[in-house]
Amino acid sequence: MKRKVKIIKIDLNKCMGCRACEVACAAFHSNPKYSNVNPARSRIQVFRNELKNVFVPVKGSFYTSAECAGRPVYMVDEKLQSGYEYGLSVCSFCGATCPSRDLFKEPDSGLPIKCDMCESDPPLDEPMCVKWCLVDALTYEEREEEAEEEVKLDELDTGLESLIDTYGRDKVVDAVARLSQKTETQSK
Ligand code: SF4
Ligand code: SF4
Repeated sequence: MKRKVKIIKIDLNKCMGCRACEVACAAFHSNPKYSNVNPARSRIQVFRNELKNVFVPVKGSFYTSAECAGRPVYMVDEKLQSGYEYGLSVCSFCGATCPSRDLFKEPDSGLPIKCDMCESDPPLDEPMCVKWCLVDALTYEEREEEAEEEVKLDELDTGLESLIDTYGRDKVVDAVARLSQKTETQSK
């Protein structure tokens, strides 16, 4: 079976650090859509070192309760670079929601947020960050691949996993049971 794979390619040489991608993502993911722009809600964050003219857009990618789940290294100008070598913090190329920093966390609840490729109904022609990157540092591609059997956590699962890490399983189960009882009573 084939599945559609969505890819955003990031060209670091073209990014000028304007942060239009952050604004577009934050507006699209506000509730209701486009009702406010809080870049802390953006699922793409641009790491910057203006003095070195370095701008690195990074998409929120996964939740981990570990302090560090490994540091990505990028090819820049045909050299392997970590964030540190690029004049940024060592964590700069990482899209994880982790306990070490406040990035990729919903500002009110602290729950993890990650790029959902702007899934919506009806679907967009291309993700918002790509659409508003006017210098084409972000480009969008779709391709078909053989589907592998995999269990993918969606945003709800990721949020619950993070709550369980913070409060423990029993408290989360109790809270869900209480809420479901409350909504059941309200709907009668
Ligand atoms: S694809 Fe959509 S959700 Fe992902 S970073 Fe871009 S605007 Fe945000
Ligand atoms: S919109 Fe494009 S150029 Fe501007 S910060 Fe984002 S990726 Fe870089």
